[in-house]
Amino acid sequence: MSATDPKPRLVVGIDLGTTNSLAAIRAGKGARVLRDRDGEPLIPSVVCFLPNGEMVVGRGAKDLRLQHPDRTVFSAKRLIGRAGAEVDREAALLPYRVHRGDRDLARIEVGGRDYAPEQVSAFVLQEVKATAESALGQRIDAAVITVPAWFDDAQRQATRDAAQLAGLECLRIVNEPTAAALAYGIDGSKDGTVLVYDLGGGTFDVSILRIDEGVFRVLSTSGDTHLGGDDFDQLLSERILAAAGASANDAYVLQAVRAAAEGLKIELSQKEQATLRIELQDRAPIDITIARAEFEAMIAPLVERTIACVHRAIADAKLTADDIDDVVLVGGSTRVPLVRQRLEQDLGRAPQTGVDPDLAVALGAAIQADVLAGNDKSLLLLDVIPLSLGIETLGGAMQKLILRNSTIPTSSTEEFSTAVDGQTAVVLNIFQGERELAQDCRQLGSFTLHGLPPMPAGLPRIAVHFLVDADGVLRVTATEKRTGHEASIQVVPTFGLSRDEVRRMMLDSIENAQQDYVAREAIDLRNKAQAMVTGTRKALALASLPPDQTFSVQKSARALEKLLQSGADAAALKVACDELSKLTATIADDVISSAVQRSLQEEQGSNTNPSAS
Ligand code: AMP
Repeated sequence: MSATDPKPRLVVGIDLGTTNSLAAIRAGKGARVLRDRDGEPLIPSVVCFLPNGEMVVGRGAKDLRLQHPDRTVFSAKRLIGRAGAEVDREAALLPYRVHRGDRDLARIEVGGRDYAPEQVSAFVLQEVKATAESALGQRIDAAVITVPAWFDDAQRQATRDAAQLAGLECLRIVNEPTAAALAYGIDGSKDGTVLVYDLGGGTFDVSILRIDEGVFRVLSTSGDTHLGGDDFDQLLSERILAAAGASANDAYVLQAVRAAAEGLKIELSQKEQATLRIELQDRAPIDITIARAEFEAMIAPLVERTIACVHRAIADAKLTADDIDDVVLVGGSTRVPLVRQRLEQDLGRAPQTGVDPDLAVALGAAIQADVLAGNDKSLLLLDVIPLSLGIETLGGAMQKLILRNSTIPTSSTEEFSTAVDGQTAVVLNIFQGERELAQDCRQLGSFTLHGLPPMPAGLPRIAVHFLVDADGVLRVTATEKRTGHEASIQVVPTFGLSRDEVRRMMLDSIENAQQDYVAREAIDLRNKAQAMVTGTRKALALASLPPDQTFSVQKSARALEKLLQSGADAAALKVACDELSKLTATIADDVISSAVQRSLQEEQGSNTNPSAS
């Protein structure tokens, strides 16, 4: 705060939810939500594009969804920053049209007009902003916005874009569970390990956080971007459609049944059984009664999926269930009694319910907003990255520079070199994943470092620097240290990893560990053999050995090179490497031995070479 600006800066926290959104502001030691004129804090994340060109956002739009089913867009957050192929299954169930646009990104079409999901989110954010401004009687231009912990770069970037479109400066993207824990632990008296279980409308997140004297550290995160109350509604909708003998092809029927299913579900959180009267167009009303036990049997497999994620997060944090001091619930779907029961059964303690599960995320975001505005210096927030980041090296190995679950912001630098004499450019392929081979990981981006002066292979010293900022966005810089040439890239992939992919990639890495290890060893052996051949040649040129010794070393190096060229297997390569090694080693105190060793050390010190262009 400067002397000319004595008033604290006003920054709100916004929970941009799949189902509902809301804003909150710091108030005293805690925070308070900003309500609309009717005292409602939740703004449905729904936009209705009327045929006359007008647009209605929030509760009004939700009310219009039966009248204009194919013009009312909800759950846009499920589509944001994602490829059409990734959302095909969901799109089939949505009453509005979703298609694949540029770069295969999911787009929404309403009344012949095309919208990006971030535009729809921007309309929701504008409504949240207007509500907050009228509650405060003041203009707002900056916010902290929350996203699920497993949102990838593209989804985070798309959320930032939505904020910008809505006229808001996004000061920070914060993970939802982290924000919730912030709301929960604000008084600082609750040091310990907290498990945040966040089951909302469309996504599930679980995070393990360590709270220590006002410092929040995320130890691990896990979850599923395709799991939430919407899925409970979907199962109930199918049950209702079957009972009503109606088809799922009609947009009106779909919207009506979904709305009814949600009402029924909420009632079942309170009662042992609930009855629904459904009136479909041109049909007599039908009463459908569903018992809580039946509903619980339907959703049990989904709840078990969340419990499996809880176990994974605990294991990733290298803890056991006994180490968890508190369980915090976030998201409307945690009001389902079965969810609470299963958590209590599994973790041996009742979850905390002191924080309102619908408001916790926004309240925490407001506290973080206040910290970023510079008004509160007592808190520090640390987050982690979900999957390892690295580059492809010669032979297709994945060299990890930043390991998964590293606290962000984080950075790492490693040195590489070239594989071919006279190489003037190197291509850097950036990957994310847990497997040993790049082909089994997900490519995030690629760039070229040009302008290297032609040098013998192995001589250029290319420092590759990975920097993940506080928002989880990766920036990669490559510098050739001898010449100072530099190139860099900010990694915003065309579309990122879906959480299901993340989970699959992690499972894959465990299942294929042995096979990967063998493949990785083979690549390392080839790189070592190549380095030995090059090193021996260079050293021979410098040394003045007796001709017979020179001849036998040359012969052995040539044999090894031939094996390399013919793609020989690891066993044959190893024998040839050992032989060359023996020959160079027996020439005691000789220049070859020391030069080869030096050359090898250099190679190993600077790792294997990045893919040559
Ligand atoms: P959120 O994304 O956190 O706003 O959560 C919204 C989800 O919570 C929606 O699927 C709601 O239907 C669901 N929800 C809200 N209240 C209840 C309740 N009392 N019982 C069951 N689900 C609820």
